[in-house]
Order: sequence, then C-alpha cells, then structure tokens
Amino acid sequence: MSFSLHGVGVSRGIAIGKVHIVERDSVEVAEYAIALSEVDAEIARLADAVNQAKMQLRQIREHIPTSAAADIASFIDTHLLMLDDVAFTEEPARIIGDTLCNAEWAVKTQRDALVRIFDEMEDAYLRTRRDDVDHVVARILRHLLRHQPLRHEVADRHLEGMIVLAEDLSPADMVLLSHHGIAAYLTEFGGPTSHTAILARSLDIPGVAGLHRARRYVQENEMLIVDGDAGVVIGEPDERTLASYRARQAARLEFLNSLADLVDVESVSDDGITVNLEGNVELPSDFQAVAAVNALGIGLYRTEFLFMNRADIPSEEEHLATYRTAIEKTAGLPITIRTADIGGDKEIEGGPIAANPALGLRGIRYCLREPSLFRPQLRAILRASADGPVRMMLPMLANISEVRQVLGIVQGLKDELANAGVSFDANIKIGGMIEVPAAATCADFFARELDFLSIGTNDLIQYALAVDRVNDEVNYLYDPLNPAVLRLIAHTIEAGNDHEIPVAMCGEMAGDPQYTRLLLGLGLRHFSVHPTTLLEIKHMIRLTDVSRCVDVAHELLNEAEPRRRRELLASL
Ligand code: PEP
Ligand code: MG
Repeated sequence: MSFSLHGVGVSRGIAIGKVHIVERDSVEVAEYAIALSEVDAEIARLADAVNQAKMQLRQIREHIPTSAAADIASFIDTHLLMLDDVAFTEEPARIIGDTLCNAEWAVKTQRDALVRIFDEMEDAYLRTRRDDVDHVVARILRHLLRHQPLRHEVADRHLEGMIVLAEDLSPADMVLLSHHGIAAYLTEFGGPTSHTAILARSLDIPGVAGLHRARRYVQENEMLIVDGDAGVVIGEPDERTLASYRARQAARLEFLNSLADLVDVESVSDDGITVNLEGNVELPSDFQAVAAVNALGIGLYRTEFLFMNRADIPSEEEHLATYRTAIEKTAGLPITIRTADIGGDKEIEGGPIAANPALGLRGIRYCLREPSLFRPQLRAILRASADGPVRMMLPMLANISEVRQVLGIVQGLKDELANAGVSFDANIKIGGMIEVPAAATCADFFARELDFLSIGTNDLIQYALAVDRVNDEVNYLYDPLNPAVLRLIAHTIEAGNDHEIPVAMCGEMAGDPQYTRLLLGLGLRHFSVHPTTLLEIKHMIRLTDVSRCVDVAHELLNEAEPRRRRELLASL
C-alpha cells in the first residue's frame, strides 16, 4: 500500500527511483586504513569527538533536576572522568598512529582491550563497570560517526539513479553523492538554506529535508517518488500516481525550456531600470551554467568545495589553477571569489567543531586564525587578478577590525608579489558580505572601507531572528519578510548608496521570484542568483514597474502583522 511522508522541499524537482538508506549513525564500526599524512587530522577528529562527548555530558549534568537521586549525577561524573582518562584519549590516538587506522577503529580496539581486562576481574561489581566503558565508547563513536564523511560508506556502491535517505548529510557528502549520480536526496534533519540544500539546488538534485524518523518507515530498495517542490515523499506508488508525477516532471522541463527565450534579452524592468543579474557558483560545473544563461558576472563564487573531502589544505597553486580555469570558462566576466567560509554547517575534515558552530570560529574568523589556510588563497586570488576581472569578497564580517586586518594582510601580500615581480591587479576590488546583523546595522562603516557589499540573507536571517538555518524544528520562524530582516536589508542598501558603492544580494532570497519586486522596491539593483533560477528572476524583473513597488516595499518595513505582510507581498 502506498504511503506518504511530509517534510520541507529544499531542492526543486521530481525524482522517481529506488532508495538507499545511509545508516551512518549506527555504532557499527568499520575499519579502514589512513595515510601517514592523515594521522594528525584523524587524531584531531578523535579529540573533537571526545570533547563533544564531554560537552554533551556536562550539559546533561547541568540539567539534572535537584530532586533527582544523587546517583545520577555521580554516574555522569564517572563518565566524565573516564573521558579525561588516557585510556580514552592518548591510547586510541597511539593506536591511530601505530596502526594507521581510522579513529572509530582505534576506539573500538581500545574498548575491546578494556573489556577483556574487566571480564577477567574476580569482583562482580567491578565486572559490571564494563558497561560504563561501553556507554562512554558509544558516546564517542556517535560523535565520530556523525561527522565522518560518507566516503567509506558509499565507496563501492552503485547509487546512480537512486534516492539517498540519511539522518543528515553534509555539503561534502552532497558533492560526493552527486559524483555517484544520485537522483534525489532525503534527510531527517536540515532545512532549505543549509549549505547541503544550496548545493543540491546547484547540482539540480531534488531534495526533501526534515523527514523526521523517515528511516523507520522506508525500506531499503523501496520505490519512491520525491517531490522537492512540495516536500513530499510517496512510497510504493501505484501506476496512476506514477503517471501523474511523470507528467509533472515533463511539464517542469517544458517550463524551464520556455525560459530559454530570455537568455539574450536584457535585464531591464518594465519602467526602464537596469538590474545587474549575476550568477552564484557553488561548484566549478556551475560556470558553464552561468555562461549558458548569460549572467553579467559571478556575484558569488563559493570556494569551500576546494576544502571538502580531503584531509589537507589546498595549496596556492591549486587555488590559482582553479581560479584560472574559472576565468577561462567565463571569458572575461567579472568573478567575485569569496574567501573560504569554513565552519558553521560547512564542515571540513580537521576544521573547527563547536557546540554552537554558527556562532563559532567561522568564515573570516577561522581564516584570520589560520594564516596557513588563508594566505595561499589570498595570494592566489591576487595572482589570478592579473588574468581576468577578479574581485575578492570576505564572508561573515561582524567587526570593521576584521576588514582592516584582511586589508593589512592583502597589502603585505601585494608587496611580496610586487617585490618578486609577480603580476596582479593593484586595484583589485575587495568587498564584504553583510550577513551578520552587526555588520548590517553598521553597514556605513563597511561601505566606507570596502569597494562593494553583498547581502547574504541566508545567514542574515538566521542571525537576525536567532533561527538556526539547519535546524528544521525552528524552520517555521525563518522568515525573510520579518521587518527586522527587511530593515537590515534596506539599511545596507542605503549605506551603499550614501557611499556610492554597489550593494548586491547573493543569499537565496535574491533567487526567489516571490521577493524580486519587494527587493527592487527597496532599491536593490544587483542580484546574484543561482543559474537555475536566473532566467525566472529576469522574467520577473522584466514584468515589473519598479516605481510602483516602492511604497509597498517600505510599508512592509513597518508591518507587524505577518498575515498583512503576506497580503502586501502578494499585492506587488
Ligand atoms: C548567505 O549567507 O546568504 C550566503 C550567500 O552565504 P552562505 O549561504 O554560503 O553562507
Ligand atoms: Mg553566509
């Protein structure tokens, strides 16, 4: 009998196929060999997992009600002490180094050794303490397995045309799965502005997130329909349902093909306002897509992919080769290279792991902390600027001091290159992303010292409304129409106008046609959107009389009532 599951549609499109379930969070441990060069990263991964386990236990301990038996607290204290013991820290690290195995296997090996000792004990009470070992080991393993890339899990699998269902997937997993040719993806957690979802859209892989407990209802190899528009999954569909979804698949394709007529027309509103439409690039494969839709440039080139699915840091030459290829592929279009925005939900192996990653060492903070990672990228961007119109963009700015630090480093690198006779564009444009409310509120500071600004609504909304963009439980609060968000956007545009520098928007809001008129009404003239939506946005711009959007857009800044805001938006 057919059944349906409901989540959040995070990447549009319909897929029909068999499902493969990724069970990464089971405590079944696989052994695999690592290279000598990966030992340090593997030991760091182990240390992170132990730290996370400790943090989690401390939190649990803090929340024990005072009425609870004291035994419970002492039970947790025992586990905390064990997590500090060399048996769980140094010994598994030694095993990793000696046997070149993965961290999970080292923990399991150590667990087996400890359990053998407990089993040999005469004392019945002490023998039962082996349970504590198992609890602590399970806790460490859960953290290790949760952050482990899918690499080993899917290495020998044939996933082409299949739908992948997992508890959660990282952006790195998404890239990997796209190489396997999956047809769609489903996750129990996650939301529409997670980087995994953004990547899936860029890769044109339909997806549904927030399907709580889906793995309980779906069986391996079952036939599913995934409706990424509606956020619905249908299991064991009958023939009629299948036929109707196949017809919808064909209709969507037809609509997308019809937009092709707009490729060569200008992006000018009905009342003659020219709007600069650029493309967002997540992966090198997007360059072709950007060129195909005739974007005026690349408004956001996310470079995190360079750091994914590997244990080492990309070298300057590797960065440079990538940027040169990008310049070749876009034949003279300006390219805005955003420096690495690592951290938050964009995890890399050996990167920062924190209890509150979105508020932690992320983006520019991480880069300023890790010059060995940042400087090669900056040097490569500078060198690439000799070959084409390249701009540099800094993510996650919160304080003007961060801008000044980067400008200082860039100046130092320019001097180095000049002294070595290496060419670069001395006037390279350096801009910043406005995606932290502090930066939006003080956008004038940033407008004064930078050449351009770009509003990252994905983060701006998350931080302004205190809504984790990857937490599906609070997704309903993620509202681009909230006046707090709109005022930050309007204020940033104003600051740019006052200082005569361009202000773009490159967050997902810019690529959602329902907001195009509102943004035009607020004065936005530079949009950077994913190539798959660029023509739809152009279509909207061409149908819009901007002068008629200004009043309603400004009314929205002062409208407290959500229903009325929806009505105002619909009236545009
Ligand atoms: C944003 O935050 O809106 C943005 C474009 O950056 P990212 O989604 O990569 O964080
Ligand atoms: Mg961002």
